[in-house]
Amino acid sequence: MEEMDRNSLFHPLTSIAAHQQGGPKIMAGAKGVRLRDHAGREMLDCSGGLWCVNIGYGRPEIAEAASKAILDLNYWHLFGSSSHEASIRLADRVLNLMHEHADARHLRRVFFGTSGSDANDTNYKLVRYYANLRGTPEKRKIISRKGGYHGLTAAAATLTGIESYHTAWSLPSTDVVHAECPHLYRFGLDGESEAAYCDRLIADLEAIIEREGPDTVGAFIAEPIMGTGGVLIPPAGYFERVQAVLDKHDILMIADEVITGFGRTGQWFGTGLFGLKPDMVTLAKGITSAYFPVSASVISERVWKVLEAASPEHGPVMHGFTYSGHPVGAAIAMANLDIIENEGMVGNAAEVGPYLLEGLKARLGDHPHVGEIRGRGLMIGVEFMADRAKRKPFAAAQNAHRLVAAHAVEHGLMVRALPYLEVISFSPPLCITKADCDEAVDRFARALETSTPELR
Ligand code: PLP
Repeated sequence: MEEMDRNSLFHPLTSIAAHQQGGPKIMAGAKGVRLRDHAGREMLDCSGGLWCVNIGYGRPEIAEAASKAILDLNYWHLFGSSSHEASIRLADRVLNLMHEHADARHLRRVFFGTSGSDANDTNYKLVRYYANLRGTPEKRKIISRKGGYHGLTAAAATLTGIESYHTAWSLPSTDVVHAECPHLYRFGLDGESEAAYCDRLIADLEAIIEREGPDTVGAFIAEPIMGTGGVLIPPAGYFERVQAVLDKHDILMIADEVITGFGRTGQWFGTGLFGLKPDMVTLAKGITSAYFPVSASVISERVWKVLEAASPEHGPVMHGFTYSGHPVGAAIAMANLDIIENEGMVGNAAEVGPYLLEGLKARLGDHPHVGEIRGRGLMIGVEFMADRAKRKPFAAAQNAHRLVAAHAVEHGLMVRALPYLEVISFSPPLCITKADCDEAVDRFARALETSTPELR
């Protein structure tokens, strides 16, 4: 298998050179929160795959829903007013969940796709479409943030604020501007208070809008908690103040909830967690817990009204994908949401997340290379520092956190080393128990112990 992999697969986000040398890490099976690799080694999965397996692995209810959906209607599309029950019900349910659990009653329509990236491409295009339909075609730039991750299709990669995804791909394009990354621990000045830091971030946003010209800025996109950037929780009051700036300049707000949606933070949505008022919400991952690729762009009343009013003149919305609203995906999403609701998984994330966070802090908080341990619900980051006292980071090339993550696998724990800062993320399935967390903390501590002599 290893040989065949090397000779046939083009792996995403993989060093070709390292892969040719090291070969693939082949996963063979999984159940609940446990993975099993090709060699039969068991691992506790504190990555949730790529932050996505919210209900855990191997649920027979999902297999049954998929099997039934395939036999009932394995494919139909939504083009030209075509429809089917699974997508109708899922759209209605997503809106109801966002109305009920995020107090976002202004959200009105759901557009389906198959990945977080394509949903953000849809949002990127909708910003332009909305501007054109309103007769303000120049108002189309999007402000994203350094460290933000919004996917890797062409437009989404442009929104992504991490340089390593741009270098060598001639990105980003000119219609995206990146604001400062909201992370007090790393980017705050010495002795700077949270409030003063927040003032500085807002001043930066205002300065960008002034510099670019408010008439050219159409939208602002943000993850409620930055995931890939390093599990970065914004300073208190940040989003309220951002929203006030956006309102002042008639700028749309896009909440990228690809990770934070469907319970990961211990609330259903980051929109509810921070009281956001988004005009577009990007959803993916947890909507099906990765049992099928489904994403969604949820659109506000204000955007929808412009599209609706312009429709007689403009004709069909010339955007969509073969698999927008795939009936098997929609049926799987419904079964997944049943499990999240019926088994209280959002509440479990709210209870077990802080337990894991405190466990990590108690066991590792004093380690000389552990800078900050932070998180909300089951979205947790451990940030490493070359010199903790001086808040001096490791040089990127030292790959300190990658080394720890690699040792964690040897100790039977899957966690992820993130690409922007020296942060390891924990984002286990939301069904993880406190006993599993004890085991995770123990395995991680042992991995860190093994790594410490090499961390310099
Ligand atoms: N947005 C956020 C916040 C993400 O974390 C991701 C993926 O990790 C994406 C968008 C892109 O999603 P996908 O990989 O499904 O295209």
